Amino acid sequence: MFKCICEMKLKNPGLNTICTHVGEVPDEQFKGAISPIYLSSSYQFMDVDVKRYPRYFNTPNQEYLVKKIAALESTEAAMIFASGMAAISHMFLAFLKAGDHIVVQNTLYGGTSNFIREEFPKLNIEFTFTNGYTVEDFEAAIQPNTKLIHIETPSNPLLTITDIEAIAKLGKQKNIVTSIDNTFASPVNQNPAEFGIDLIMHSATKYFGGHSDICAGAVAGSVAHMELIWNVSKNYGGSLSDFTVWMLERSMKTMGLRVKAQTKNANKMAKWLTKQPFVKHVYYPGLKTHPEHKLAKKQMKGFGAMLSFELEDAFDSDQFMKQLQLIKASISLAGVESTVLSPTQTSHALLTPEQRAEVGISDGLIRFSLGIEEIKDLKADIKQAISAIK
Ligand SMILES: *Cc1c(COP(=O)(O)O)cnc(C)c1O
Repeated sequence: MFKCICEMKLKNPGLNTICTHVGEVPDEQFKGAISPIYLSSSYQFMDVDVKRYPRYFNTPNQEYLVKKIAALESTEAAMIFASGMAAISHMFLAFLKAGDHIVVQNTLYGGTSNFIREEFPKLNIEFTFTNGYTVEDFEAAIQPNTKLIHIETPSNPLLTITDIEAIAKLGKQKNIVTSIDNTFASPVNQNPAEFGIDLIMHSATKYFGGHSDICAGAVAGSVAHMELIWNVSKNYGGSLSDFTVWMLERSMKTMGLRVKAQTKNANKMAKWLTKQPFVKHVYYPGLKTHPEHKLAKKQMKGFGAMLSFELEDAFDSDQFMKQLQLIKASISLAGVESTVLSPTQTSHALLTPEQRAEVGISDGLIRFSLGIEEIKDLKADIKQAISAIK
């Protein structure tokens, strides 16, 4: 069921060819240009190779879309879920049982961090948040019962960079499965399988969807690992509806174009922000001043379309966000429209002030998701917002 090798006749198709064509459901009947959508929740079970049911993650639209994701991440197989959190939780629960231990990066998406802190104690799964994000920090946290190491790079919201290859090596050496949250980079900017990471997870709500109208998640990896996840997922049941799968396939056709344009904007914006007198600090791996710039250059194809910054103390970040007209202050990220948010008030609101301080998230921090607008218009919007609050 999980054989997802690209079926194209073309050898080694490039990024945009994969985005556009891999994983299309062939329209045998009418020869339409796009995938037909199969909404059926009931399929014949006799005389068929595959017994299909939406919760088994194997309806036609589901089965085809995962080929696109596997091709983009250069893995054998992939699965899609009803949200990024469903992808994360099903993946974790496939590799962890009572008595096991997971090592997780301390700078982590707030939802993942909450899931671990709130759910794992109920399940008697042990966890350690690392003290930092160097390979030594991860190694120091390993115990005899460690079954999974989970990293996030670039991380949310401070864009720290973890050495993917070093973590993959550590996992292999210690016989521990490794996973990465690759949401911020997207497969356009980073392919962790090239460095030996076992499981690659995405919130497809973000760059896969790209238009702020889809909630979905994905995990990519080997057939053997996907089968383990499937065994758990069919019980928990967080599968994605076929209509959303179809929307997602359509959205992913332009992912290469979108993310490259967004990444270009982020590079320009980061450089421009560092020169503005109203900005105290900019966090972006593409800046030469970023502590892990060299590492980012080694393991990323592009530096991504997310950045964070702090305004000088004289400027109130809430007032600033309220004055923005083109750039919307909204939850979530990665849409074609630029957005900003305060991690303290949104993504990391459930952490205590102490927990936030520990990972370096100040109340004034602004996370910036670059869209595809003209960069001059984005700069103009920021300038007028600063003038308005002066
Ligand atoms: C949004 C996000 C998630 C969670 O995804 P949902 O689709 O909202 O469930 C996980 N990790 C990162 C880095 C995210 O940005």
